[in-house]
Amino acid sequence: MKHTTDWSRERCLDLDRTDPLASARSRFALPAGIIYLDGNSLGALPHGAVGALSRTILDEWGAGLIRSWNQAGWIDLARKTGDGIARLIGAKAGEVVACDSTSINLFKLVAGALAQARTRNPQRRVILSEKGNFPTDLYMAEGLAKLVGDGAELRWVEGDNLVAEFRPDVAVALFTQVDYRSGRVLDMARLNAAASAAGHDIVWDLSHSAGALPLEVGRDGAELAVGCGYKYLNGGPGAPAFVYVARARQAGFPMMLSGWLGHATPFEFIPAYQPAPDIARFQCGTPSILALRALQEGVATFADIAMKDVRAKSLELSDLFWTLMETQCREYGFQCISPEEHAKRGSQLSFAHEHAWPIMQAIIDRGVIGDFRAPNLLRFGFAPLYVRFIDVWDAVMTIREVMSAGDWRASKYQSRNAVT
Ligand SMILES: *Cc1c(COP(=O)(O)O)cnc(C)c1O
Repeated sequence: MKHTTDWSRERCLDLDRTDPLASARSRFALPAGIIYLDGNSLGALPHGAVGALSRTILDEWGAGLIRSWNQAGWIDLARKTGDGIARLIGAKAGEVVACDSTSINLFKLVAGALAQARTRNPQRRVILSEKGNFPTDLYMAEGLAKLVGDGAELRWVEGDNLVAEFRPDVAVALFTQVDYRSGRVLDMARLNAAASAAGHDIVWDLSHSAGALPLEVGRDGAELAVGCGYKYLNGGPGAPAFVYVARARQAGFPMMLSGWLGHATPFEFIPAYQPAPDIARFQCGTPSILALRALQEGVATFADIAMKDVRAKSLELSDLFWTLMETQCREYGFQCISPEEHAKRGSQLSFAHEHAWPIMQAIIDRGVIGDFRAPNLLRFGFAPLYVRFIDVWDAVMTIREVMSAGDWRASKYQSRNAVT
C-alpha cells in the first residue's frame, strides 16, 4: 500500500542514506542538475561503457583488426552477454543470446512457434495478442501473418480475461508482461500454465520487465521470450535486444530468419542451411560488436545486485511518487492509470492529463525528464540503480511549480517532436 505518513525532503534524504542500492548510482555518468525518470525508455550511460568502448575501438578494432574475432572473443560476445542477461531473468546460461532488435527477435520466435503449431495442427492459425500491446509487436505479427498466408492471422483482444481467448485456433500468443503505457504486469506463471493446458505457446516480450522486476522465466514455465537492451538494461541507444529459448525447445525450433551465424558450422561455408543445435541458432547475421560491448557494460551495472532489492526500491519509489502527486498536485487534474496493487505494477507510473504533452515539455525544460505517450499520458520510469528518493521529491515539486505557475502554457511547449 502507499505510504500515508507525512513526507519531507529530509525524510527522502534519510531513505537515500539507508538505501542498500545507493552505491549503484556511482556506476552511471548522470548529468548534473537532471532528474532522470526515463530509464524505462533509454537507460543511463554506465561509466564502464565509456572505457570498454574506447578499448574495443582502439585496441581490438584498431590494433587487433580481424584477429579480434578470436583474440578479443568477439565471436562469443553475443552469448556471453546473453548469459549475463539470463541471470537477471531467471534463465540458465546458454538460454539467452543478445542480438538484433526486439522487433526482429519477436518475429523469429513467433514465426517459429506458429510454424510448429501449424505442423502439429493446421487449425491453429491465429497469433493472439492484446490490442494495447506495443505497436511493433502487433505490426510484426501482422506482417508475419501476411507472409505466412494460408489463413494465418493476428487476433488482438482487449480486457482482463486473456485465458478466455485461448481457443483451439490459437497457434501462439504474444504478450508483453509489463504494459508500456500503464505499467500493468501480467501473471506469467498463471498464463503459461493456462496456455500449456490449451496447447499453445506464449512468446513473452520482457522489454519493460528485464532489469526492472525479478523474473523467473524457467520456474514460471516461460519457454520463449524476447526483450529490449536499451531500457532498464542500460545498453545504450539502439542496443541489441535478446532472445530467450528454454533449453528443451532450442534444438527443434524452426528458425525462419536463417542467417549464417545461426548455422551449425558457419565457417564451413556450406550452401545448405543447418541450424546450430543450441542458442546460437537464434542469431542471424554478424552482430555489432560496439553495440554488444555497450550492452555488456549495461548488464554489468547489475553486478552484485539482487533483483529483489531492485524491486523493493522500485515499488517504494513509485509509491512515494504517487503519494506526493496526490498530496502536492491534487488540484491539477492528474489521474494515475497505473495499477495500485504492487503485484500488478511494473517500475513506472503513468498519469493521464489533457495537457500531458506541454506539461511534460515544461518539466523536461526544468530538468525532470519523463516522457509522453499518446494520447494523453505523462510517463515516469523508476530505475532503482540510479533514481533516488530525493529525485522523486524534487520531481514532484517541479511538477507542482510548473502547474501552479501555468508555465506549460507557453507556446514553445505546444508543438510535438518526432520522438516523444
Ligand atoms: C521498447 C519496446 C520494443 C522495442 O522494439 P525495437 O525493435 O527495439 O524498436 C518492442 N516491444 C516492446 C513491448 C517495447 O517496450
